[in-house]
Amino acid sequence: MIKVSGLTKEFLQGQEKTEVLKGIDLNIEEGEFVAIMGPSGSGKSTLLQLLGGLDVPTKGDIQINDKFLNRMKEKERTIFRRKNLGFVFQNYQLLPTLTVEENIAFPLHADGKVTNERIKMIHELIQSVGLAGLNRKRANLLSGGQQQRVAIARGLVNNPTVLLADEPTGNLDRARAEEILGLFLKFHRENKQTIVMVTHDIFAAGFADRIILFKDGVVDQVISRKDGDYAKYLANFMA
Ligand code: ADP
Ligand code: MG
Repeated sequence: MIKVSGLTKEFLQGQEKTEVLKGIDLNIEEGEFVAIMGPSGSGKSTLLQLLGGLDVPTKGDIQINDKFLNRMKEKERTIFRRKNLGFVFQNYQLLPTLTVEENIAFPLHADGKVTNERIKMIHELIQSVGLAGLNRKRANLLSGGQQQRVAIARGLVNNPTVLLADEPTGNLDRARAEEILGLFLKFHRENKQTIVMVTHDIFAAGFADRIILFKDGVVDQVISRKDGDYAKYLANFMA
């Protein structure tokens, strides 16, 4: 479902070119829940931005549902993204003066598609992320945990086949993180959503089927739940 090969990304920093991703090869199965971990600055967010079509690679291929994201023109990529992908940004990035409902509906406006059916779906999403009764509340009046749930509902509003989430539990305490991850699992199981989650939290990563460890712009290690020593590995990691 997601195939990445030879993925390279360079950034210009002043006069200097920095290679942030140095030839990544990665396959993610349909319906798989993958966690990407690794030190700060190792290129995790950059990879997610590329998978989400929010930026373009310097070299290499990204295929999602057999379509080459890197070969699309910008407009085509935008349409593809709106139709197939959901993105949960680090630090939520809500529109502070808009309501919960308006924030969640926001990605749909681009297509002018906020039909009655969509509104019903938004209300259901608000229920399922545990924000019942807060439809009309402005985002800047919500707690951090509530804002995080709005961000997740917004990421799911187009019923994406792939959900990309950058540190979705980053600013949450353990109890809230567990709730959010429970939500991910719920959507993952009910809708067979493929989830790619960047996290620095091994507790969060433990919810995934597979953990991909990044180091200096390359894949350093892959740990799968199918491997016999998955639990042991996690325990060591946490120790
Ligand atoms: P991570 O999410 O693993 O912490 P990032 O992907 O955010 O890492 O960043 C990897 C490196 O790329 C960092 O050194 C960062 O400064 C650099 N970088 C990321 N985005 C840009 C950009 N738009 N322009 C220049 N450098 C960037
Ligand atoms: Mg990051």
